[in-house]
Amino acid sequence: MDFCVFGLMKSLVFQGAEKVIVNEREIPVLGENTALVRVDFCGICGSDMLIFSGKHPRVNSERILGHEFYGEVVDVKGDGFLKGDRVVCYPLISCGDCKPCNNNLAYVCKDLKLYGIDREGGMANYCVVDLDKLIKVPLELKDPLPALIEPLAVAIHAIKKSGFKDGDSAVVIGSGPIGSLIAWVLGKKSEKIFLTGKNENKIECARNMGLNVVNVRKEEIKVREVDYVFECAGVEGVVEEAMKVIGVAGKIVIVSLHKEHERKVDLFKTVFEELELIGARVYRKEDFKDAIDFAIDNQEDLSKIITKVVRLEEADKVFYEDFKKNMKVLIDCRRN
Ligand SMILES: [Zn+2]
Ligand SMILES: [Zn+2]
Repeated sequence: MDFCVFGLMKSLVFQGAEKVIVNEREIPVLGENTALVRVDFCGICGSDMLIFSGKHPRVNSERILGHEFYGEVVDVKGDGFLKGDRVVCYPLISCGDCKPCNNNLAYVCKDLKLYGIDREGGMANYCVVDLDKLIKVPLELKDPLPALIEPLAVAIHAIKKSGFKDGDSAVVIGSGPIGSLIAWVLGKKSEKIFLTGKNENKIECARNMGLNVVNVRKEEIKVREVDYVFECAGVEGVVEEAMKVIGVAGKIVIVSLHKEHERKVDLFKTVFEELELIGARVYRKEDFKDAIDFAIDNQEDLSKIITKVVRLEEADKVFYEDFKKNMKVLIDCRRN
């Protein structure tokens, strides 16, 4: 007889601006070509905090949040995966119809959707995931590090997109998880990497990861004429900051920007110095695989980015705390 998972599970749901709760609901039922994943850990992302603030345009009330999760396949309908497989979710859902989708650019689909925003996410004991969104993770990558594969894939994608070569120099603006991960990965390719930040806790965490961090509240960044600037702060004024440190023919990679901010770009300098502005958004599936390999080789340093782990039962509380004091928060979704 087939083993069947049923009953109730805990999940963290969004209920409107500034309101999330942990509640119980039925364990979801499998459809064709999906797997039921028993979630181990799920990361909390800056975008989850944006949803919490009520500023995200698409999230419905009662949605289970979370797009940075992994776990074990406990039931499956379809080929390619078996019960017991350890998997991470590639959370992008593309339409398959638009021009980017037809040009091997499905990750920048015109109608891009995500688990944890448009579909139920991973801040729960269980999550149903389409089989083509699952990527196997070897046991070699220790718990709870697979929960960091998604943000690490953002970093790896941005670096690939930039064309950064070994020995190039870079300033990374913004010492949050994405900025720190980018600086950390770049640090394996070059010694000339400088991360800038303003938040004491995050700066301390980044330094603990071995990064060279300039606290711009206390000192001015002295390096000039770098080959690359990665903008990961997502606040106003950073493109101007990038313009100060970038060298002739340099490349400015914009990784995080918030819709509401006005952006001023010095177009004259862009022309006169032949600068390049590069946008980098999310990741391809291959970036997840590269992130897994990279993580396996660098587990100890990577684990330092996790500054807090909370149990799912009390995960709602983190949203009401001063979230900025944390670097990366993970939710332990395992049942005890
Ligand atoms: Zn994320
Ligand atoms: Zn599309």
